[in-house]
Amino acid sequence: MTATIIDGKEVAARVRAEVARDVLEMRERAGRVPGLATILVGDDPASEVYVRGKRKASAEVGITDHHQHLPADSSQHDVVAVIEACNRNPDVSGILLQLPVPEGLNGKALTAMISADKDVDGLTHVSAGRLMQGAPGLRPCTPLGVIELLDTYSVALEGAEAVVVGRSDLVGKPVAFLLLERNATVTMCHSRTKDLAGVCARADVLVAAIGRPEMIGRDYVKPGAAVIDVGINRTDAGLEGDVQFDAVAERAALITPVPGGVGPMTIAMLLRNTVTAAKLAGGEN
Ligand code: NAP
Repeated sequence: MTATIIDGKEVAARVRAEVARDVLEMRERAGRVPGLATILVGDDPASEVYVRGKRKASAEVGITDHHQHLPADSSQHDVVAVIEACNRNPDVSGILLQLPVPEGLNGKALTAMISADKDVDGLTHVSAGRLMQGAPGLRPCTPLGVIELLDTYSVALEGAEAVVVGRSDLVGKPVAFLLLERNATVTMCHSRTKDLAGVCARADVLVAAIGRPEMIGRDYVKPGAAVIDVGINRTDAGLEGDVQFDAVAERAALITPVPGGVGPMTIAMLLRNTVTAAKLAGGEN
């Protein structure tokens, strides 16, 4: 078997075009557009690149930019004040605090200050609780991107055996809950899981979110499975996923490449979340 390669760039482009249409439609119908406040504290070069990418993508779909750049020596109180101002500002639909924040600041406590209704990263305690209880709310972007890819390629989730390797708050746990919400039978694996290869080999849908280059080999994969590689690992050989792409592609029915699989989906889903937040604020669903 040679797997179909899931084209994350193409799916992300389609989502971004849909978001652009939604923004235009909101402008024409309600006379307002969604706004995104990216909050960057300090001058970490990688964070600057990420935030620039998110602002550029937002501008391209017509979302208003409410970017806030605070100096690296800002106090916790300074950042809280900016978050609270964004929480109150009706023009700001979504708030994103770029992590990590400089040493001395408590990123988790700051994230928790973001209003759940504007939490476009889906990382506050309230958003996590809403997801766990199946209540409406904003979901984390990369996990949403994983589901969007599976849906686009018509992967049946109801009743499917899904195995998620990794249990971070950012990726593994929310992916598992989104799959559960879609009635998959979900197993979560982590560094203490016994017989990881054996557990993974049961999966109709295998999601790797580990951060270990090419850890998932052929023996971990059931023939005909859909394999989603969330991993992004910078190695001497370049960018590598958590999955041995060539070996696994011979066995799986569907596989995401790295780069060009899950990666492009994260910003696309951030844009969609910003529109969702604006609609919720306007009393729409
Ligand atoms: P993380 O917080 O470091 O979590 C890694 C998870 O993998 C942990 O739950 C850990 O288990 C588990 N793990 C580590 N070694 C393992 C092993 N040998 N066997 C089984 N499980 C193991 O990482 P993350 O933030 O979830 O990110 C995971 C990967 O996704 C990274 O490569 C990251 O760069 C990438 N990522 C990509 C995107 C994107 O846009 N595509 C977005 C976010 C993250 P324990 O809990 O037991 O320690």
